[in-house]
Amino acid sequence: MGFGGPGHGKLKFDDDEAKPDISKALLLRIVKYFLPYWKQTLLVMIVLCISAVLGLLPPILIQHIIDRALPDKNLQLLVLLVLASLGTTVVSGLLGVVQNYLNSFISQNIVHDMKNQMYRHLQGMPLQFFSGVKQGEVITRMTSDIAGIQGVFNSTIVNFASNLFILTTTAVTLFIMNWKLALLGIVVVPLFIMPTRKMGNVRWKLAKETQEKISEQNQIIQETLSLSGYMLMKLFTKEDTELTNFRTVNAQATRLQIRESMAGRWFMLVLTTFTSIGPMLIYLYGGYLFIQGELTVGAIITFVALLGRLYGPVMQMTNLYVDVNRSVALFERIFDYFDMDPLIVDSPLALPSSAEGQDIVFENVNFAYQPDKPALQGISFTAAAGSLTALVGPSGAGKTTITSLIPRLYELDSGVIRIGGKDIREFTLHSLRSQIGLVTQDTYLFNGTIKENLLYASAGATEAEMIAACEAAYIHDFIMKLPEGYSTVVGNRGIKLSGGEKQRISIARVLLKNPPVIIMDEATSSLDTVSEFYIQQAMHQLLLGKTSIVIAHRLSTIMAADTILVVQDGAIVESGQHDSLLADNGMYRDLYNKQFQEKASAT
Ligand code: ADP
Repeated sequence: MGFGGPGHGKLKFDDDEAKPDISKALLLRIVKYFLPYWKQTLLVMIVLCISAVLGLLPPILIQHIIDRALPDKNLQLLVLLVLASLGTTVVSGLLGVVQNYLNSFISQNIVHDMKNQMYRHLQGMPLQFFSGVKQGEVITRMTSDIAGIQGVFNSTIVNFASNLFILTTTAVTLFIMNWKLALLGIVVVPLFIMPTRKMGNVRWKLAKETQEKISEQNQIIQETLSLSGYMLMKLFTKEDTELTNFRTVNAQATRLQIRESMAGRWFMLVLTTFTSIGPMLIYLYGGYLFIQGELTVGAIITFVALLGRLYGPVMQMTNLYVDVNRSVALFERIFDYFDMDPLIVDSPLALPSSAEGQDIVFENVNFAYQPDKPALQGISFTAAAGSLTALVGPSGAGKTTITSLIPRLYELDSGVIRIGGKDIREFTLHSLRSQIGLVTQDTYLFNGTIKENLLYASAGATEAEMIAACEAAYIHDFIMKLPEGYSTVVGNRGIKLSGGEKQRISIARVLLKNPPVIIMDEATSSLDTVSEFYIQQAMHQLLLGKTSIVIAHRLSTIMAADTILVVQDGAIVESGQHDSLLADNGMYRDLYNKQFQEKASAT
């Protein structure tokens, strides 16, 4: 599966009836996560088995109290039986503690393993995935979906095993005690299987609808109360619309949740009525046998007590398929993500290589973001080692796309990009990307201190190196004027800094990393003259002696470039140096004149 549909966790059964649709392969895949913990799982099963047997003892001991200790007025036996009953309860409790520990150990470790696997997997996903996926979905997948897996072990697997053990041990005991009464007790079982199934389905449907509403609600929260969503909402004064939206969904979710819990209540009412029929029959027929002298009082009481241990598990197991389906759906939602192809991975033959002092060559490169809508067509050019190549052209021409292909943020469709004569696909991704410094317009800073942001790519750099880089990027003085200097926290995405400041910090960051190749998208946002001057100076320092490709918006950059490529509609329409291009009287001249006029009118 590709990443076109970042798996919206389609549940594999229809709405009316929760029908299992679980393939062997899927089951095997799920089991694989449990395998590392098979020893602990086995231990849980043994504990459950012992608990099931121990659970039978108290009712049997009561029978002996009633039928032997009391009629015989045997105090010693009475105390012994009571103590034994107490002992069983204590041992059962202790076993419960052990089982609880094992349950958490297994389920939390599976969650741990999956989270690591998912994080690693998502790191490998291409840029396209993150631009396509809904905000917050990745976080939901990583947190609540995976966290839900722990419930699978606790509530589905352990419950099933526990019920099965209790059911079989109790049934066997009942038949040994009195097979006729046992049959009578079991005869009513089908009575409550039907309503349990019906109600299970209703609850399952409601639970599913509730879940959908809650994700819808989360979506609204994430979209409107995140930094960019919030700005959008405020700027377009959409608060009222969003509030109404939220309120509607919230009200629907609340109604559904109430209905879901009420469905549970009716379900219990019906079932308690049916489950009381069994004991009544036992009292009736058992009472008759007692009058006939064939049965003791203790036996009747024990029988009824044991019936409860029979009905409970039957009811729970009737709805097992709902739990199983829910669990499998959860795994499927997670597997959907795992199955998305990272697309851009190291080829088996990839080797760490160096781009130091090497030419970057595009040979007839074609690329499209969407099928049938080419973004780049037949791009060929050479960015000589140590030279400055400027990309100019109207917005949407494909300049950013050209630069994105070099660090393989996207994979080209045909043609080849070479560095030092070697196809970039022969480089390991790590070696390729570590040699490219990227300064984008939308500078990405995380919410930490300036220092943390600077050292992100070069953890080993010294304080002196960091300051030198900032001085070269003409940002040191600015930083020092901040109240907390390099320890100033920049806010989400660096919101507390201006565009020009952010870009200079980003330049300093790349200077610190000191890669042989620089890709830069000059800031277009209208900078004041002082900012512009500083950025120019910073850029000059950055590009010194590097192989650089710059998306140029300023005349000074364009004029200094060794090669200018004019891009239009995904193709290079002109190339050369400033003077010759200007003389050509083509597109470049138009762009130049336009900028020149803008600059003249601005000053
Ligand atoms: P420029 O940098 O020259 O302004 P871009 O390289 O950003 O142009 O865009 C070239 C074309 O590709 C545009 O038509 C743009 O809409 C489209 N495009 C850019 N990024 C994406 C993307 N992530 N998905 C789909 N289309 C895109």
